[in-house]
Amino acid sequence: MHPFLEGLLALVAPLQCPGCEEPIHCLGFCGTCASLVEPSTERGAAFVYGGPVADAIHRFKYDGRSELANALGALMREAALRLEGDVDAVVPVPLHWRRRRARGYDQAALLAKPVAQALGVPVRLRGLRRVRDTPSQVDLSHRERQRNVEGAFAPFRLHGARRVLLIDDVRTTGATLDAASRASKAGGAREVHTLVLAARFLDGAA
Ligand SMILES: [Zn+2]
Repeated sequence: MHPFLEGLLALVAPLQCPGCEEPIHCLGFCGTCASLVEPSTERGAAFVYGGPVADAIHRFKYDGRSELANALGALMREAALRLEGDVDAVVPVPLHWRRRRARGYDQAALLAKPVAQALGVPVRLRGLRRVRDTPSQVDLSHRERQRNVEGAFAPFRLHGARRVLLIDDVRTTGATLDAASRASKAGGAREVHTLVLAARFLDGAA
């Protein structure tokens, strides 16, 4: 969306907390949700999946609430700044076009823009292509997830980026990010960093 339209929309549509939909005055979680979220201690994630973070991601991905990308992207800013100076371009982990068409937007691409802005580097929205549509990973083990996403990505328009930061909304076992990292390296990236909004830990998952 054009920044002017975005600004206009913010005037007419009051900001809402992405976790509980209470009205708020600046981008991010409300006080209550902020006290319930668990910031991630590792470099590759902004939060631990759960509570208001999980609710926000669910609204963002499955309820058509693409505008929440502004608040969620702002919440990734602090984590992104840990990588300042280490990356040349930000690349979202892409959805397959069929899934993007069904949803109407690509959630990782929407998060990649504010992250790239925070880091002052370009975003390569089409740096990778999802060449294979893969079934949902939800009920799969780590091994099955690895097989599921193997060869799912191909480098596309990385434009010679050497140090790439891959962005996704959720990381569970890391199988998807591993496959996307391999594709980035096949496309000429020397270093690949990854950052997700939330790292999810499953019982028994490796
Ligand atoms: Zn809230």
